[in-house]
Amino acid sequence: MSINEMYGSASFGDAAMRERLPKAVYKQLKSVQAGEAELTMEIAEAVANAMKEWAIEKGATHYTHWFQPMTGLTAEKHDAFISPTSDGRANLEFSGKELVQGEPDASSFPSGGLRATFEARGYTAWDVTSPAFINDEEGGCKTLVIPTAFISYHGEALDKKTPLLRSMQAINTQAMRVIRALGNTTSTRVLTTVGPEQEYFLVDEKYFKARQDLLLTGRTLFGAMPPKGQELEDHYFGAIPAKASAFMADLNTELWKLGISAKTQHNEVAPNQFELAPIFTYSNVACDHNQLIMQTMKKVARKHGLVCLLHEKPFRGVNGSGKHNNWSISTDDGINLLEPGKTPGDNIQFLVFVCAVIAAVDRYAPLLRLSAANTGNDHRLGANEAPPAVISIFLGEQLQAILEGLANGKGAVTVAGTKLELGVTSLPKLPKDLTDRNRTSPFAFTGNKFEFRMVPSSDSIAGPNFVLNTVVAEVLSEIADTFEKAKDTKKAVQTLISDTWKDHGRIVFNGNGYTDEWIKEAERRGLPNLKSSVEAWPYFAAPESIAIFEKHKVLGKEEIHARLDIVLEKYSKQINIEAGVALEMAGREILPACSEYAATLAAEIEQLSAKKLPVGQMESLLARMAALIEDAYKRMKDLEDAKAFAKSVPDVLKQAQAYRDKVFTAMEGLRSPIDELEKLVPMDVWPMPGYEDLLFRL
Ligand code: ADP
Ligand code: MG
Repeated sequence: MSINEMYGSASFGDAAMRERLPKAVYKQLKSVQAGEAELTMEIAEAVANAMKEWAIEKGATHYTHWFQPMTGLTAEKHDAFISPTSDGRANLEFSGKELVQGEPDASSFPSGGLRATFEARGYTAWDVTSPAFINDEEGGCKTLVIPTAFISYHGEALDKKTPLLRSMQAINTQAMRVIRALGNTTSTRVLTTVGPEQEYFLVDEKYFKARQDLLLTGRTLFGAMPPKGQELEDHYFGAIPAKASAFMADLNTELWKLGISAKTQHNEVAPNQFELAPIFTYSNVACDHNQLIMQTMKKVARKHGLVCLLHEKPFRGVNGSGKHNNWSISTDDGINLLEPGKTPGDNIQFLVFVCAVIAAVDRYAPLLRLSAANTGNDHRLGANEAPPAVISIFLGEQLQAILEGLANGKGAVTVAGTKLELGVTSLPKLPKDLTDRNRTSPFAFTGNKFEFRMVPSSDSIAGPNFVLNTVVAEVLSEIADTFEKAKDTKKAVQTLISDTWKDHGRIVFNGNGYTDEWIKEAERRGLPNLKSSVEAWPYFAAPESIAIFEKHKVLGKEEIHARLDIVLEKYSKQINIEAGVALEMAGREILPACSEYAATLAAEIEQLSAKKLPVGQMESLLARMAALIEDAYKRMKDLEDAKAFAKSVPDVLKQAQAYRDKVFTAMEGLRSPIDELEKLVPMDVWPMPGYEDLLFRL
């Protein structure tokens, strides 16, 4: 099959719809997708029928509503198209109703108390804007998969997708008001776009399976660095190893079939770490696609005898993984509102939207920080790794000079010294390489989009995007309030730029975000530094957060509290599992092997000294090992106590704090003697594959 034929062949996307739907239905569906018309049962029936025919031709026997519950994974329940007839035959059926709405038995998905178990009903509702696709499980059946949102009987969001869709609506409403006030009369809709770059590790499946920690927690809880780490940076952009390359070829094929435009792939900084970037698309579709990318990576890796690790920090001592959430906002007629552009009208639009983002990020930094929080990301953000936990914006010298100049009433001055009049002369096109040098910034302007670099590698991108959309929608709504009343729009824009720079310029930082000086400087500027997830999450339910989510109809107070409980509980559970695994590995694998070896060594020393041979160094090695083994046992006891204590704390927030302060700390305490032991005992004595196997053998 040629790439052309293959691309999108498993996706019921626009091309398939245009081909298979009656013209009138196709047109109606387009206006439903554009939010201009309601979905009627008639359209649903027609689409369902075409979808079924298409899916059956592709060999599908089942269909499923696919959703993204709060677990962060995706869920599906498969139904066969088959429907028995009275004469003992079967019809293949799929109705409009079955397309539009599903009712999975959802009682065991986390709902944070929104849905008591006796009221277990949750509904899935078809997301008309995200294409259905065929899932082809090796050896299993082919399934027509319908992307949906998952809501409770009373309409509360039970998933990650619903608030994202709501936030896209919110930013559409507010951005439209702003561009209308600025004189745009032609665009009818504003949409956010996202291109998420996904980082991941590949490890050999046989090593993965031999490690309980990787198997059960996704990261190594112990592990000493081999003599070589990532210091030579020889992996970065180097030749892709053969096994990884075969994996990528297969992965690309699978993704292309689904109509996912996997575009770039390369080695990352850490050994055996890689990245995949698709071409950007609308936020909700990008979110679905990112879930599919992660799912497909795992599936394809297994076929190649590899395991794909999506955890934020699988290995200590080398870089962890994240997602770069490239975000922009554009109109339905193709104007990227963050494109500096060439015509004066565009310039104003651009400056207004950049100001909105700057103000939003500064005012709601804690919300953005917590949107990127998860258990794994605590090993990156605020823990000596990119990016820091302090949110700041990189604008680049050029754009900063322009905004500063305009704010101070001096007119836009470019770095090169050319003077620009707002709205009269065009802004220089910002060369991309001038704006994209900074890799340490958590939130960087990169030419015509912002890149949010804190996003965790293993999680859905829905959270960071619904927060980003909502906070920008809020600032845009305030700007619209002013502009709609303003007599002189140009003056209002001038005031907006001055005010934004004065009130929120502190968030702009073009320097190196990894340094201690920046952390001190950030503190001086009053920028929050929320070092851990548990510190950040409670801001979700702060009055000012609830106020904006309610105002823009993204989430209600109860939905927020439910979500907060879910993330805190999940955090506690994850640390509890990690602690349990650490105790087992130490107590049942590592320490017994170490003490057995120590006994062997002791016997050897005895034999040698009986022959009056020198044993001084061996004795001190033995003593060192014995001390470390004893210390490790003691620290196991500390960890057990901490774990028992945390488990008994009743309040969800206090419990999560106990897991972070006591259990996590005790785990770190246990790790240090064990990692030291790993370097002392012979390689064949160590009961599991080490970092050298995991990082350098593929
Ligand atoms: P990098 O230097 O970070 O690799 P790229 O130019 O390769 O930057 O782009 C990274 C991602 O940004 C890609 O997924 C790309 O599709 C996406 N991107 C580009 N333009 C936009 C946009 N307007 N909105 C959202 N994402 C975008
Ligand atoms: Mg990037």
